[in-house]
Amino acid sequence: MEMIIEYVNNKKQFLLDEIKKIKEPLKLVIVQINDDPASNAYIRGKLKDLAEIGAIGELLKLDINITMEELKKVIDKLNNDPTVTGFIVQMPLPKQLNEETIKEWINPDKDVDGFNSKSLFKPATPNGIITYLKDNKFDFDGKNALIIGRSNIVGKPMAKLLLNLNMNVTITHSHTTKEDLEFYLKHADLVIVAVGKPYFINKTFQINNNAVIFDVGINRIDGKLVGDCEHDLDVKFLSPVPKGVGLLTRLSLLLNLMEAYKNGI
Ligand code: NAP
Repeated sequence: MEMIIEYVNNKKQFLLDEIKKIKEPLKLVIVQINDDPASNAYIRGKLKDLAEIGAIGELLKLDINITMEELKKVIDKLNNDPTVTGFIVQMPLPKQLNEETIKEWINPDKDVDGFNSKSLFKPATPNGIITYLKDNKFDFDGKNALIIGRSNIVGKPMAKLLLNLNMNVTITHSHTTKEDLEFYLKHADLVIVAVGKPYFINKTFQINNNAVIFDVGINRIDGKLVGDCEHDLDVKFLSPVPKGVGLLTRLSLLLNLMEAYKNGI
């Protein structure tokens, strides 16, 4: 497997070259309705990525007291604005706003985060991992995938996508016993860890040493970023934290934006 950072840089260079050939600018609008420091950091990263590939990134910061009615008007405007290639609503949202309803308001053609149930796009983190695996010629067919964590943004969509690639898929969660988790880890060819607990997967587990592991977790210990996996597990491939799945997730958004542009021509 290629180093993720090199892979992402090559893909960004490819997108930059593609965008140079296009006359109209590609534009992503990021709607932010929070003062969350983690969101600020993610948004800074996304804007930096967009600038690097020659696309326009616009941050639309809204009042955190905005009502559903007012937000609907903003979303409708973005849906109908021909200069907006795609837009995303940054999570988390304030309590008065209903996430599920808002997701369905986004035009599926512009929903580059893949939130809407009819979106043309796959959710960023699962799509980022799968695109990387495909580009690295990973053999999915009939192999065992273990997904640890069942969130709506990672675990569940990941399971569906891997199932569609003919993998045998197991999802574990907080009710899974340690014995069962041990069993699955011994037999997994691909492991996706999205729990949010530092070093949750560590050397006390016996893991298939041919396994390919993606560590989705982002945790902070004394200001340092660490994943859900101990970093020196004896496996075929383990994605690093930082500069691992986070980069693939960000790349996925850029690829979706390019696709939204192509679909709109
Ligand atoms: P989440 O909503 O935080 O939920 C965590 C999941 O882990 C739940 O399904 C939970 O099970 C499960 N879990 C908790 N304890 C467990 C245990 N002992 N054994 C097995 N499963 C257990 O999940 P998320 O939003 O996917 O986030 C997970 C982590 O990934 C976080 O650190 C987040 O910051 C990170 N993340 C990173 C990226 C990226 O781009 N790198 C993207 C998204 C998320 P229950 O359902 O039973 O509670």
